[in-house]
Amino acid sequence: MARAPFVALLTGVISTVAVTALGQGGGVPAGAPLEHDIRAGAGVTAQRLLSEYLPGLEKTPGDTKVYVLEGEAPGGTVVVLGGTHGNEIAGSMAATLLVERARVVKGRLIVVPHANNSAVSYTDPQRPGPEWIEIQTPSGMRRFKYGARRTRLEHQGAPDPPKYRHPASTEELDGAEARNLDRAYPGDANGPLTQRVAAALMRLIAGERADLAFDLHEAGPESRLAWMIVANPKNIDLGALAVLALEEQGLSMKLEPSSDTFRGLSHREWGDATPARAFLVETPNPGQVEQPAGADVVSHPDYPLSKRVGAHLATLGAIVALFNDEARPESRIELRDLPSMADLARDGLGKYLK
Ligand SMILES: [Zn+2]
Repeated sequence: MARAPFVALLTGVISTVAVTALGQGGGVPAGAPLEHDIRAGAGVTAQRLLSEYLPGLEKTPGDTKVYVLEGEAPGGTVVVLGGTHGNEIAGSMAATLLVERARVVKGRLIVVPHANNSAVSYTDPQRPGPEWIEIQTPSGMRRFKYGARRTRLEHQGAPDPPKYRHPASTEELDGAEARNLDRAYPGDANGPLTQRVAAALMRLIAGERADLAFDLHEAGPESRLAWMIVANPKNIDLGALAVLALEEQGLSMKLEPSSDTFRGLSHREWGDATPARAFLVETPNPGQVEQPAGADVVSHPDYPLSKRVGAHLATLGAIVALFNDEARPESRIELRDLPSMADLARDGLGKYLK
């Protein structure tokens, strides 16, 4: 296959939907366009770019697709982000499944499958995973990008500081964490790329008046965070009820509230700054270990991707149902055509993609 000519792109000359990634640090070959293979389903009523919420993201590698699924009946709004960390594929694949398959009967579902679109464009040399994953679907074998945790250094527009400390946080982190989207909220509309992406996502959640907002992640199987729901303290009750409901479905999730001192994280800052009830969900990814070489991130016998995506969707479904129990009728949200955990375990993920 002929390679596209090399494009120099230290600054924002790239469009998001066709992010051109440099070869440095692994990832797609220099100059090769990275197109996300996401095929909008019949439930999608509008597609836009995140830069519509923050023009400073336009034509940068941080811009990313936003899919809107609006039901015929008005109701509440739920926002779902995958790909905050580009290597945590159960989140981006759960979001992809929503875009390709979900129908909304009432209310609105807004999905951002690749929240940090720069992070998914390359492979972290410190913790390499596969560059792509392959999934057999009814339309044939499809490929989805497996990326890295943080914004690509060349995209950030600023060198890493010696240390990164969120203004409201008591914790001082490694300087590279300045490129971690989930340490950047509420962001800065005029800051480096990661700060601008965070600011744009805050504007989306606030401007669309989200009632519920989900940030879908993964952690190493031995991590404390695996199988965890993290809830903003104001909606911890909804999280506790969801843990009980999921237990009845055979899924054991843990629950913890956002930290008061470890700041910049989605569930904390979205929930504090907007009316949204904010949640982060973590499933175990066998590739997120110290020595990930050879880890099967799709078909692992204990942690298959289908099971992890099923856990994300079941958690979303449980929390939406519990939200509806307490919401006024005009604020309820009804989603349909989503596979259950049992469906995904039986049939695999590919059957539910286009
Ligand atoms: Zn994560």
